[in-house]
Amino acid sequence: TNGAEHVHDVAVVGGGQAGLAAGYFLRRAGLDFVVLDERTGPGGSWNGYWDSLRLFSPAGHSMLPGWWMPAEEGHEYPSARHVAWYLTEYERRYGLPVHRPVHVGRVERADGALRVIAREGTWRARYVVSATGTWRAPHVPRVPGREEFEGQQQHTVDYRGPEEFAGRRVVVVGGGNSAAQILAELSQVAETTWATLRPPRFLPDDVDGRALFDIATRSQRAAGAGRPVEGFGDLGDIVVVPGVREARERGALKAEPMFERLTRTGVAWADGTSLECDAVLWCTGFRPVLDHLAPLGLADGRGRIALEGTRAVDEPRLFLLGYGDWTGPASATLIGAGRTAKATVAEITGALAREG
Ligand code: FAD
Repeated sequence: TNGAEHVHDVAVVGGGQAGLAAGYFLRRAGLDFVVLDERTGPGGSWNGYWDSLRLFSPAGHSMLPGWWMPAEEGHEYPSARHVAWYLTEYERRYGLPVHRPVHVGRVERADGALRVIAREGTWRARYVVSATGTWRAPHVPRVPGREEFEGQQQHTVDYRGPEEFAGRRVVVVGGGNSAAQILAELSQVAETTWATLRPPRFLPDDVDGRALFDIATRSQRAAGAGRPVEGFGDLGDIVVVPGVREARERGALKAEPMFERLTRTGVAWADGTSLECDAVLWCTGFRPVLDHLAPLGLADGRGRIALEGTRAVDEPRLFLLGYGDWTGPASATLIGAGRTAKATVAEITGALAREG
């Protein structure tokens, strides 16, 4: 460390879309804050996604607070690279004080504040907003035989594109958007098999990311009014973007039930059938990146922290943004990130005013 402790009202950990949305409202509220991000450049996880990934809604339907995403020339559905560019410009446009690279190792309680400790320095803040995303915590289910399998195993986070799998036999695991989109392109060059826990559920073809956001809005209102919350689940999981539609028409998106175990040379089902393959691609999701909060002792057995809104029930100086529906409906989407960020900053502003 460099010795000196930096002092601010608020420290935001993570400078992806969720951290920037918080920054926008913190700036507007005139608070003294800093954003700490471990990456060397802007854009958060959008820099890590595979080259061909496209947003599931048009640019004109994606925004962080204050500024709609401009269209990407020649593409209705923008690329991940375009989103990273948008976040870069967003940061500049609003003059957000993002410090990079700063890897926060621990957040600890300090008298009337929290202490944010990184190799690069120490920050003392009365409130901390954690917005570290999920990309650094890929989840692979505990399927027996994973160590025995002699082929290649990758997770969504490792996937760069279909080229390296050309001509090979690949089993893709998982029933969500990542699996469907990867299969759509992989099945053009490789011999693919799709394994899912339950039959994949496609959204109606005319429903894209926009409709998901509308559902999130309704479910937030319902929750506010004490009515049962409608999930996306009632409609389906997979957005039928153009590539996915084409692959489904080609017959490349027929799913098998989940296999029971991996063998040395492939996968095997409980009924005794088996399949040889060269690679298994786990599109099985992510967990929240919360290791820096471990010293606060807040996480339950599933690694989640009890919240009221976005505020930690057992540590009122801590807020969580952008990790998934448990931190606010659609809070892990570009268009949804702003809503919970706004509410969070309003709560922090009120708390600071009361503390004086
Ligand atoms: P991130 O982008 O991961 O940002 C967190 C930042 O915090 C990163 O820079 C990270 O390096 C940093 N960090 C982590 N730990 C620390 C630490 N200890 N100290 C300092 N910094 C730290 N959403 C849409 O709206 N539309 C889509 O079409 C869409 N498609 C998606 C496709 C895929 C394959 C995936 C995975 C997600 C998609 N999403 C989409 C969802 C969502 O928009 C992204 O997951 C989004 O990047 C999450 O933003 P975030 O700010 O929460 O996290």
